[in-house]
Amino acid sequence: MPSTNAGAIRPITANDEAIKAALEEAHIPSLMMTLVHLTGDMSILRGDIRLDRGFFADPQGGIPPDQQARVRALAFDAIRKYRDDNRGKAALPKPPGGEQLAEMMQFLIGDAATPEYVEFLSAELAMDGRDAYASPLMAEVPAAKRKDFHVVVIGAGMSGLLAAIRLKEAGIAFSIVEKNANVGGTWFENTYPGCRVDSPNHTYSYSFAPKDWPQHFSDQKVLLDYFDGIASEYDLRDHIRFNTEVNAARYDESTNTWRVEVQTPKGTETLHANAVISAVGQLNRPRFPDVPGRDTFAGPAFHSAQWRHDVDLKGKRVGVIGTGASAFQFVPVIAKEAAQVTIFQRTPPWVSPREEYFQYIPDAKHWLLNHVPFYAKWYRFWMFWRTSEGLLGSVTLDSSWNDQQRSTSAENDALRQLLTAWITEVVGDDADLLAKTIPQYPPAGKRMLVDDGTWLRALKRDNVLVTTDPIKAITPKGITTQNGAHDFDVVIYGTGFQASNFLTPMKVYGKGGVELHDQWDGDARAYLGITIPGYPNFFCMYGPNTNIVVNGSIVFFSECEMRYILGCIGLLMKRDSQAMDCRRDIHDAYNQRIDEGNLRMAWGSPHVSSWYKNKKGRVTQNWPFTLLEYWNRTRVPNPDDFSFT
Ligand code: NAP
Repeated sequence: MPSTNAGAIRPITANDEAIKAALEEAHIPSLMMTLVHLTGDMSILRGDIRLDRGFFADPQGGIPPDQQARVRALAFDAIRKYRDDNRGKAALPKPPGGEQLAEMMQFLIGDAATPEYVEFLSAELAMDGRDAYASPLMAEVPAAKRKDFHVVVIGAGMSGLLAAIRLKEAGIAFSIVEKNANVGGTWFENTYPGCRVDSPNHTYSYSFAPKDWPQHFSDQKVLLDYFDGIASEYDLRDHIRFNTEVNAARYDESTNTWRVEVQTPKGTETLHANAVISAVGQLNRPRFPDVPGRDTFAGPAFHSAQWRHDVDLKGKRVGVIGTGASAFQFVPVIAKEAAQVTIFQRTPPWVSPREEYFQYIPDAKHWLLNHVPFYAKWYRFWMFWRTSEGLLGSVTLDSSWNDQQRSTSAENDALRQLLTAWITEVVGDDADLLAKTIPQYPPAGKRMLVDDGTWLRALKRDNVLVTTDPIKAITPKGITTQNGAHDFDVVIYGTGFQASNFLTPMKVYGKGGVELHDQWDGDARAYLGITIPGYPNFFCMYGPNTNIVVNGSIVFFSECEMRYILGCIGLLMKRDSQAMDCRRDIHDAYNQRIDEGNLRMAWGSPHVSSWYKNKKGRVTQNWPFTLLEYWNRTRVPNPDDFSFT
């Protein structure tokens, strides 16, 4: 069951030379923390070494080579002594106390280390081995009370598996319904060439299940393998109904329970549940553009999330529609074998530099992560922090800023200049391509893509053409635009997902038989992204307004959501209630604040259209505040936010 792996290291048996060689690959800020653990001496943090904490700063925090060498030398002595003292055993030094820990964090994150952040980050860091995402409320419920409660979880992707692990840990009965033949959700469905995670893997993983990732941003197969392994390791498979899809869920007001109607390979069935957790994700129903003649194309045509591996692209003329996160990953791969790739671009993505995007983690780094006490913990901490609130300040709107069309504030403009300079450097002096690849909307208006230049270099290939002519129609031969016709052998849609249609196509009938989508009327809302008035004991994971653009990993949100959901179930049991329904006034006030928050962010800018906004123009996807706020709000449910039955 979940533990935070505080002490998961292997004994050090390496000789001096091997240790020295490994230290050459060390992440120096993390190594400095290890040094404090091993020696108990804080002086290294109080001397002349200072960090550049900028989001785009060099990965070593800007520490100059001579200071890096000094840290390595000190670390070498400390690690050697640790090895010799422990004679091949993996004994962990005592973790530092609260004040020391706060000073260590202060060194790494500077003024951001306010008492609130230190508390939050200390819990996440879990140096003491405590599970920060366990529900404190559930712990107060006697085991006997838990076993008669049954939960149906919809989906066995990242969130659904997490829900199952936590329910199992709590001793609550559950079944998972999964439409696919295996677990993994998005990592099962998206098999397009080049598919990989675009959040650092050391944070895109459950807090309680760290992995020795092969790459900083591993590919789809590795991610699928991770979730596959989790399902087996936590013995979840027996609870999962594969190839089974929920058609409808109905709340029965006479029993305060849910009836979940499922389509199995053999027919329909009804499952009964005290609570339902929807973990269906936001990005799994492909969206096709509304273009005339879409079905008339004579050759193979498919969506990136339904990749046709039987279609050989070698030597073919391929038309690609879209330049979002998916096309951005598969185009550089297919361009290597296709005869010609023509990309139909409506809006270019902002691309931000990440040198290590495709890099494998070298053996020496693996060694450090696996052997050096607390090094892996601090490395995750660094990744977590750098990608958490790091960029939030640069993507906020300043209403007095003049040039709102291109940037939202002076800081956002500085970000625009930084990213523009990098794009210009990679593209070079091709004025036409530069004009096509430098976005005209504010950075972070849409999802920013991380890259080491691979995408932009692919666009420079002789066999790749980017056209910005709007598509007029799809014909049997290819695609026609306002300026001409392009003939293709294959057409690929990188056109994204029906993200605003939360929880479709299933139907969810709440109190009074009201269907959720009728209530939402195309404008999905929930309290904390989790609960919806009129739908008692129905909980969402990755629901409305729980997506992030520049801060954090979606796994963090799921872990917070599940802690809260478990808290809700705990609350029901503690109060001997059968159902809890979110209060409408609480829900509405919350959503008003969310809307105000999103309007202050780059992605809420009226100059941007993206899948973050629904047809009414409201941002239904994103969380506009800090991770700290979501963390705090989802720690324990407030009973006053609900009415109980
Ligand atoms: P997307 O970001 O929604 O991109 C769809 C693309 O299709 C956009 O460039 C869009 O242009 C274009 N498009 C749509 N209709 C068009 C039309 N009629 N003519 C021309 N272009 C059209 O979809 P996605 O790339 O699949 O990514 C969706 C999300 O999935 C991402 O934002 C990300 O959150 C997630 N994702 C993550 C990863 C990862 O972690 N590695 C990988 C893939 C996806 P406009 O911008 O003008 O609308």
